[in-house]
Amino acid sequence: MTNDIILTGDRPTGQLHIGHFVGALQRRVEMQNSGKYKSFIMIADAQALTDNADNPGKVRDNVLQVALDNLAVGIDPDKSTYFIQSTIPELTELTFFYSNLVTLARLQRNPTVKSEIQNNREKFGASVPVGFLTYPISQAADITAFNATVVPVGEDQLPVIEQTQEIVQKFNNTYGETLVMPRGVLAENENARRLPGIDGNAKMGKSLGNVINLGDSADVIATRIKTMYTDPTHLRVEDPGHTENNPVFTYLSVFAKPEHFAAFLPEYANYAELATHYERGGLGDVKVKKFLNEVMQETLRPIRERRETLARDPGEVMEILRQGSIKAREVAAETMARVKKAMKLDYFG
Ligand code: ATP
Ligand code: MG
Repeated sequence: MTNDIILTGDRPTGQLHIGHFVGALQRRVEMQNSGKYKSFIMIADAQALTDNADNPGKVRDNVLQVALDNLAVGIDPDKSTYFIQSTIPELTELTFFYSNLVTLARLQRNPTVKSEIQNNREKFGASVPVGFLTYPISQAADITAFNATVVPVGEDQLPVIEQTQEIVQKFNNTYGETLVMPRGVLAENENARRLPGIDGNAKMGKSLGNVINLGDSADVIATRIKTMYTDPTHLRVEDPGHTENNPVFTYLSVFAKPEHFAAFLPEYANYAELATHYERGGLGDVKVKKFLNEVMQETLRPIRERRETLARDPGEVMEILRQGSIKAREVAAETMARVKKAMKLDYFG
């Protein structure tokens, strides 16, 4: 048993997708099952409101959906603590104190925030909510409240983790050694760290609508794959194709295992052989997409089935969240007491 603590979470802005699965969820499950970590799984409802303030119903509904997705992939409530962010007022309190340690210019330079503002330009226009701009501060509160040492994330979140590290350093330098320094952990497979969207966008994102969800039906998966972006210069079967920036191939490189080739496309032993043929020319997109569909159906079927079973009893899922939130709050309250002491705010003992 190491002393490592994991804090990780998702925004309840939609169901979780295959980018989450390979970019973050699989790692969470592996780490949980290794028995070497204590894990906290946060449903970041307060953070979801920073760009959905006008849509509380959406956030509320997706709390259950995101919990179902985590449960379905194997995050076990007996081994990991699930909680809802907004039920822990200490997180808001920490955010307020940490915001004195961060400059406006630093937030405006944060590459994650910058690109998310860009993605949200239709919604925000020139008016970015303060809460959205400052969500990296609240993320620092989430991570440090649980003394997390390890934060499994997709690549898009690394700059936010860096900002947390700066806050921790600044806090400890100013008020004395109090907060634990965390580090971000990425998926091993490079292509899984930022899975592209089915439209070819560099990132599959809930708010971008370019997703295959973990809970999608077999029909929806098949339709999404049929309409997927692929190499636009690969017009005829004989043409040489590009596998780079071609999400069909990126997904295959992440999801297709030798047993999938053996079962559905035995003329190729592995991904490398298939990719070489496509690049040489003579391999059509329809055939490749048909194979990708088989692979995704095999991968997602057991997750969807577990999800459907769990979804029959939403009360049970909410009870997991309720109990976890009580446990998580105790930990956050301990950190809060240490923070207040360090900041000389412990007036009444
Ligand atoms: P939103 O568009 O609302 O921000 P999202 O799809 O980015 O949704 P989050 O809830 O913000 O999902 O992210 C949850 C976790 O999944 C984070 O660690 C994030 O880095 C990771 N993640 C999100 N999208 C991808 C992706 N396409 N590839 C790999 N990891 C991802
Ligand atoms: Mg996101």
